[in-house]
Amino acid sequence: MSLLDDLDRGLLDLIFPRDCAVTQEPMDEGERLHLSDAGLALLPRIFDPRCFTCGHPFDGWLEGDRTCPHCLDLNPAFHRALCAFRAQGPVRHIIHRFKYEKSPYLADDLVAAAIQDTAFRRHLAGSHLIPVPLYRTRLQDRGYNQAERITRTLAQKIPGCSWSPALLKKHPTASQTRLGREERRRNVAEAFSVNPNYPIRPDIRYVVIDDVLTTGSTLHACAKTLRQAGASMVDAAALAHG
Ligand SMILES: [Zn+2]
Repeated sequence: MSLLDDLDRGLLDLIFPRDCAVTQEPMDEGERLHLSDAGLALLPRIFDPRCFTCGHPFDGWLEGDRTCPHCLDLNPAFHRALCAFRAQGPVRHIIHRFKYEKSPYLADDLVAAAIQDTAFRRHLAGSHLIPVPLYRTRLQDRGYNQAERITRTLAQKIPGCSWSPALLKKHPTASQTRLGREERRRNVAEAFSVNPNYPIRPDIRYVVIDDVLTTGSTLHACAKTLRQAGASMVDAAALAHG
């Protein structure tokens, strides 16, 4: 997002006073520009117990094995993934808006809300964050990569974090949204490569960042690419679990 886009947003705010993206009520001044305290309270957060590997929330207490059946099947290349919210209700709505309705600034407020979760913040602290990349034609169509916007904001707000666009998308892939679990995995396998401008180091902990984790296939493919390039510590995180 360029400075010009942010200035445009500022002008729009003057002409159309800002409303909360959840409650539609007028916003007061505060850190979050489009998410009121009342809206924040309505976001469906994920609490323990959750799958240790993918962060999938379990309804009820879990004894013994803390990995869900999906992860036993996937055997992901990332060690652990964590998500702050369920991709439901107002969270699904906000993500849809910042992803498909040219409202990338909404990601900033969802990030601010996500890092209020201590477990989520600790999962990222001190790490090098890498966004899931878009293929260049998709990037041109959308005008921005929402995962990169999330990553940049996380790196600004969490102590000790840095970030780089160290992954590239090698070729376009079909949208994952209508594909089954196995189809998703095949769709994104071998779709990523390491950006040669950002050498991967074995002594750095990397966390791959996406907006939504559904089956984990995309984050798995990204993590596998980083491991093949020499990374030894790779985790993942998304704002929401779908
Ligand atoms: Zn899992």
